[in-house]
Amino acid sequence: MDFSDEEELGNDVLSRKKFNFQTKQLETTEADTESYRVSFTTKEEALEWLKIYEDKSKSHWIVDKTFPNPDRYAYRHIFKCNLSKRNKTPQGIRNQQCTVLLEIKIKLITKDTRKKDPLIGKNDPPLPGIVIVRNSHNHHIEVGDSMQYLRGSENLRKIFEEYFTEMAPGQAMRLHEEKLSLKENGEILKADGHFNPLPNTVYYWHREWRKKHFGPPQHPLETLNSKCEQYEKDGTTVVVSDEAPWCVLVCTPIMKRAQALKSAGEIIFIDSTDTVDASHSNVTVISTATKIVVQSIKL
Ligand SMILES: [Zn+2]
Repeated sequence: MDFSDEEELGNDVLSRKKFNFQTKQLETTEADTESYRVSFTTKEEALEWLKIYEDKSKSHWIVDKTFPNPDRYAYRHIFKCNLSKRNKTPQGIRNQQCTVLLEIKIKLITKDTRKKDPLIGKNDPPLPGIVIVRNSHNHHIEVGDSMQYLRGSENLRKIFEEYFTEMAPGQAMRLHEEKLSLKENGEILKADGHFNPLPNTVYYWHREWRKKHFGPPQHPLETLNSKCEQYEKDGTTVVVSDEAPWCVLVCTPIMKRAQALKSAGEIIFIDSTDTVDASHSNVTVISTATKIVVQSIKL
């Protein structure tokens, strides 16, 4: 979530600008988790920051758990989405049983934390505030009915798996946001995790999708070997050498045609690029000149 443009939210937030919090979103490895470090140092400031977060995320929070004397922290509170079942009658309309939790902690600024935590010791201002949001809301927040069909993370995941067949996760997110922009309430949809998943979620889906189709990134050969026969039937030759370091040669039908050219026997151009994927493998393209364009003959 971008906290750099608080002005856009209007006077209500502007009046809180006197706090001028620095908020840094951290990478997380878990799906459906957001993690921030913030410059607030007291409970009062933390609650002001939470109001800004509420404006930004169109979500609302109620206190779930307090820690009067938290260990190692100046302050610690856990909040629940206001559409959780807490304080609701089971049949109540606001009882959506949403399980999203937001935890706020403030680390003590001591000689020790300054030394051990670079976000306190080396960041200006120090960021002793820790905010972690877990799970996705199971309800839409402010959306039009036109997008109801998109609801539910399984549908959304399928849509992204379609994107992954043609593009990387970053491109998929951009394309998806462009599509949402064209809808009614597009800007609101983009802010809602039910329609626009968090980057961590998209990367998690991509990792799982990739593992399913191509095997684990560190050991892709087993899956590749099992597909060679099918590739050959489709006209693409794939030769695998699994001695360390492993090596794969790919020759598509158009590359085979280019290899038959006289020029391919006379001049070739070799171009290597390293660290092209998660396994840090190199790709070497062998090309030759043709009348129209430089044509790859091998990968
Ligand atoms: Zn919720």
